Amino acid sequence: MKKLLNNLFQRVEYFLEDLLAFISVPDCPGCGVTLENPRLPLCSDCDNDLRKTFSGDGPVCLFCRYFATRECTCNNDKPLPVPQLFYWGNYNDVVREIIHRFKFDGQYKIGRHITEIALDALNERIYNLKLDFIIPVPMLKKDKIKRGFNQTDIIADVVSQRLNIPIEPKLLRKVKETKPQSKLGANERWQNVKDAFAVDNGERLKGCSLLLVDDIVTTGATSWESTKALYKAGAKDVTVFSLVSNNISTL
Ligand SMILES: [Zn+2]
Ligand SMILES: [Zn+2]
Repeated sequence: MKKLLNNLFQRVEYFLEDLLAFISVPDCPGCGVTLENPRLPLCSDCDNDLRKTFSGDGPVCLFCRYFATRECTCNNDKPLPVPQLFYWGNYNDVVREIIHRFKFDGQYKIGRHITEIALDALNERIYNLKLDFIIPVPMLKKDKIKRGFNQTDIIADVVSQRLNIPIEPKLLRKVKETKPQSKLGANERWQNVKDAFAVDNGERLKGCSLLLVDDIVTTGATSWESTKALYKAGAKDVTVFSLVSNNISTL
């Protein structure tokens, strides 16, 4: 019943967002033209460009972005198995604008659409994974209230529907206040999120293969700290899905 109600509320939200988009005649986040079809969040040229620009990457080791093996020894102080990362694209001006509109202007539709594009690009590489649950990277409750939503819930919802794998949205919790990672240097980022996540009553995760969903992965610190908490609860392995990341040359 609760799930049904949640679903209903979400549909109503999407409907209202559609209505708003229709009334306000939005512009394309890629090129700024007025959208010929306000039901679509991107113009067809930018949509095609994005699909051509990024073909997705993964699986790669979360730490070195180079080897695909879960036994990668590039980072000796982290226990195995190493989380594998799949991501769609790198930051460029268009992607930055899209992510900004999604996260800070609450444009769900562009977030859902870009997730669809990412899954199309990764295709069978991600569809063939054997997974038990999808876990969105959580926010503190007060931050979620402030923003009105958690962007990773929206990405995870699309991934769940497309992969037909259930979401476990409540098991992984954020338990520590952190600064925005984007404002910190690489070393500070690891310190900032250290021990920031925990799993309560995670019996059902024992022995499971999990897909952790995030919007942006840069150092991998947030993904690793989330993974650590999931391992502690008994997860067998963790794969990370992110819309945006940096490849080995920009690490
Ligand atoms: Zn455009
Ligand atoms: Zn590695």
